Amino acid sequence: MESKTPRDRSINPKLKNLRRNITFDVDQLYTGILNGDIVHLSKAITLIESTNPKHKKSARLLIDKCLPHAGDSIRIGITGTPGVGKSTFIESYGSFLIEQGTKIAVLTIDPSSQISKGSILGDKTRMDKLSIAEMAFIRPSPAGDSLGGVARKTRETIILCEAAGFKRILIETVGVGQSETAVHSMVDIFLLLLLPGGGDELQGIKRGIMEMADIVLVNKADDDRIKLAKQTKRDYKNAMHLLPPKENNWIVKVLTSSGLHGAGINELEAEVQDFHAHTKANDSFAKNRAQQSSYWLEESINQQLLETFTAKEGMEELLNKLRADVTENKISPFHAAEKLIQKFLN
Ligand code: GDP
Repeated sequence: MESKTPRDRSINPKLKNLRRNITFDVDQLYTGILNGDIVHLSKAITLIESTNPKHKKSARLLIDKCLPHAGDSIRIGITGTPGVGKSTFIESYGSFLIEQGTKIAVLTIDPSSQISKGSILGDKTRMDKLSIAEMAFIRPSPAGDSLGGVARKTRETIILCEAAGFKRILIETVGVGQSETAVHSMVDIFLLLLLPGGGDELQGIKRGIMEMADIVLVNKADDDRIKLAKQTKRDYKNAMHLLPPKENNWIVKVLTSSGLHGAGINELEAEVQDFHAHTKANDSFAKNRAQQSSYWLEESINQQLLETFTAKEGMEELLNKLRADVTENKISPFHAAEKLIQKFLN
């Protein structure tokens, strides 16, 4: 079976070439996905991750075919600084969901995988239990040249997983960089994990990320940290009142949890279901997804325009030259952009 472990992300050039030359049968993949076949699902994700131009058309076709069968899930984003206990928590929460009879997919967006070509997340053996559970599907972060590219692949992977019958999609991001915004714009509900003690500044949590959270979990609330965790929970509850109210009228919940011992998982799941019921009832669930699709349409236009732009002969050179001029204040960024676009259109 393909891609059951993060080690699969190894950059073996031979494997890469092999992958580039794999042939894909779209109809076969489509049928396999609808039957919930993990092997076909994995292969389909490899297809959408492929950089081979020949694969792009098949990928588009497959996603369009799967789209009418997608959507019936709760997409949950999970963030927090490295070490806060995300993977341990996902292992615990995921196992709980499976026990309830829910099929779960765990996807990851890791910005380091495109910068260093190696993943912060991928190097650890993570989620041992889930990685062998039949009702779980784990896929590490796709590699890509840009966060936009990585995010697109993850969004398309969500569609494939939903078409394959996964009812909960857990999307994890490392709490560094821009990836939280990307994840936030593809999920229904956003969880932020924090540690007991220490203000958000101490924990390196930016206000913007606090504002995105629908549920805050003070994690590692176990052993001698229980009292501190309860205090931290109260502090954050108070701090949450100072943030602007949510458009969907959801009041952010602050809970304590211990991914390690499975404490607080029941309560969390109750809140997730409450959130789902609340946003379904006031129609903000559908509205949010519609807004996200519209956002990704614009993002895709920007990205595809930029790709077409830089691919045109001579554009890259002119861009580099003008970039140097802009940084030396020889020309304004606006004027430089105008020049570039003029050249592109001619
Ligand atoms: P991640 O980097 O956010 O994914 O964090 P990990 O799940 O890899 O956990 C980082 C470290 O914290 C590991 O040594 C875990 O064993 C430990 N850890 C994770 N969750 C808990 C928890 O709920 N309680 C305690 N005491 N330790 C935890």
